[in-house]
Amino acid sequence: MQKKTVSQKGKKQTKYIFITGGVVSSLGKGITSASLALILKSRGYQVFMQKLDPYLNVDPGTMSPYQHGEVFVTDDGYETDLDLGHYERFAGVHCTKASSYTSGRIYSSVIAKERAGKYLGGTVQVVPHITNEIKDAFRSAAESGADIVLCEIGGVAGDIESLPFLEAARQFRFEVGSENSCFVHLTLVPYLKAAGELKTKPSQHSVAELRNIGIIPDILVCRTEMTIPKEHLEKLALFCNVRKECVIEEKDVTDSVYSVPRELLKQELDLRILEQLKLPIKPVVHTEWDTLVRKATKPKYECTIALVGKYIAIRDAYKSVHEALQHAGMANNAKVHVECIEAEDLEKNKNILKKVDGILIPGGFGTRGVNGKCIAIRYARENKVPLLGICLGMQCCVIEYARNVLGWKDANSTEFDTKTKHPVIDLMDEQRKVTAKGGTMRLGAYPCNLVKGSKAAKLYKSESISERHRHRYEFNYDSKFREELEKAGLKIVGTSPDGKLVEMIELDNHPYFEACQFHPEFKSRPTDPHPLFNGLVKAALKHKNNISKEKK
Ligand code: GLN
Repeated sequence: MQKKTVSQKGKKQTKYIFITGGVVSSLGKGITSASLALILKSRGYQVFMQKLDPYLNVDPGTMSPYQHGEVFVTDDGYETDLDLGHYERFAGVHCTKASSYTSGRIYSSVIAKERAGKYLGGTVQVVPHITNEIKDAFRSAAESGADIVLCEIGGVAGDIESLPFLEAARQFRFEVGSENSCFVHLTLVPYLKAAGELKTKPSQHSVAELRNIGIIPDILVCRTEMTIPKEHLEKLALFCNVRKECVIEEKDVTDSVYSVPRELLKQELDLRILEQLKLPIKPVVHTEWDTLVRKATKPKYECTIALVGKYIAIRDAYKSVHEALQHAGMANNAKVHVECIEAEDLEKNKNILKKVDGILIPGGFGTRGVNGKCIAIRYARENKVPLLGICLGMQCCVIEYARNVLGWKDANSTEFDTKTKHPVIDLMDEQRKVTAKGGTMRLGAYPCNLVKGSKAAKLYKSESISERHRHRYEFNYDSKFREELEKAGLKIVGTSPDGKLVEMIELDNHPYFEACQFHPEFKSRPTDPHPLFNGLVKAALKHKNNISKEKK
C-alpha cells in the first residue's frame, strides 16, 4: 500500500520547503533557511527544520573539528551539523533527532532492514529503497506537528553525493504536488571586477543541473555583493524558468547577520512561498530581529575574552561559543572581542593573557593543549580574571586546582594519563564497557541541581536546570578526591539529581570563576543570552573597568 505522503493531523496538511544550493558551497544556506523559518514563524506558522547531509558518516559526532567544525547537540541527544545551531538560535526552532539525516544514517537503516530480511526476495537499490527511506525522513519531520517543514539539502547541485536526496525530493514533490511543496534554490550571482559586470551564467548552469534530474525551482534566491539590475533578474527568470517575481535578491549584509530576515522580508520571499503553498498571509507579529540589529551594531562598551582552545585555526570549531559570547555582549551593550589563543602556545609564553578581560576554556578531546589550558586557568584563578570553563574546560579547572592548590603534581584525567595516582577526572561508570565511538557519549539534556545560595544558582535564578552534554569523563566520584578538593576550597555547586555526577564547580573569593561539565553554549539565544555567558561578560566588563581605574 502506498504510504501517506503528507502527514495529516486532523485536516492539517504539512507543507514542505526544500532548500537547495548552487554554484558554490558556503553561500549561507543555513542562515537563509533559518531566516526564512524565522519570518514564517513571525507570521504565526509553526515551523520545523531539517538538514540533510550527503556524507556517509552516520552523524558528524565522529568527525574531527578540522573536517566539520562544531558538533551541535540537541536536547534529545543527537550529534548534528552546526547549521542546526543556526536553526535553534536564529529561528528559535526546537531541533530533534528528526532534524538531522546524513546519507550514512539513511544507508545504515536500509542495510539493517535488508539484514533483518525486510526486503526479502528484492534487490535493494538506491531507487526506490534509499529514496523511500529519505522520503520517510521528510515525513518524520511532520510528526513535530509543524505547519511548515523546511528541509535544507546539503551540498551543491551537481554533486554526486547529494543526488539521492534531490531525487527523493523530486519524487516527494510529484506525490504531494506544488501546493504542498516549494523548491527554493540558493545561487550565486558573482561580480566580475575585470568585466565590471554581474554574471548570471553560473546560476543558469546550476538550475540546468537541477532540471536534468527533474527539479524546476519555484524560487531563485540570488546571493550577490551588489544590487542586481532589473534586466539581469528578468534574464535569470527567463533562462531558469522561474516567474519574474520569484527571482529574489539576497545581497551581502554589512551590519549584522540579524539583518538577513529583514532583507528577505523586503524582497517578499515569504509571500511568494506562502502564495504557492496556498497558505493565508498573516501579519508579521514579532520583529525582534530589528532590536537585535540595533544592539549588535551600536554597542557602548567593549571587552576582550580569551578563548583558549586547540582548534583555534578553525573558527567553526567553536561556533556556538562565539555566538553565545556575542549574545551576552548584546545583552550588556558591549562588543565582545574574542582573542583566540592556541592553548599549546601558552606553555611558552602566557603574556598574551595580560591584555584580556576574561578567559573562556571550551570543550575538547585529547591531551594536546591540556597543560596550556591549565596555565590559563591558574592565571585566571591567581589574578582574579573572570573565567568560564566548559566540559574539558571544567575538567582542566579540577586538574589545575588539584595540582597547584593541593600539590598533587600528577593529578590528571584518565583520558590523558591512565596511571596517575590522582585521577581527579575519570571515565563515567556507564562508559567503562563502551568501545564503539559513534553516538556513545553521555549526550543531550540532563537535569542538574544547583546549591542554594551559590553564584551559579543566582546566575540561573533557579536551583534546578537542564543542560546539554557531550562527554565520557567526569569529576571522579571517589569521595577521597572530592572531599579533599572541597576542603581545599573548590566548591561543587551543581550535581545530577542523585548527587553522583558533578556538573558545576565555582570558587569563592574570586569575581567570577564558574565551570560546568555541560555545554551552555548550545542553549544561548540572541534574544535570551545564557546566564553563564552573561555572567562572564558582565564580570569581564567590571574587571576591565577596575584595571583601568587602577592604572589611573
Ligand atoms: N574529553 C572530555 C570527555 O570526553 C571532554 C569532552 C568535551 O569537552 N566535550 O569527557
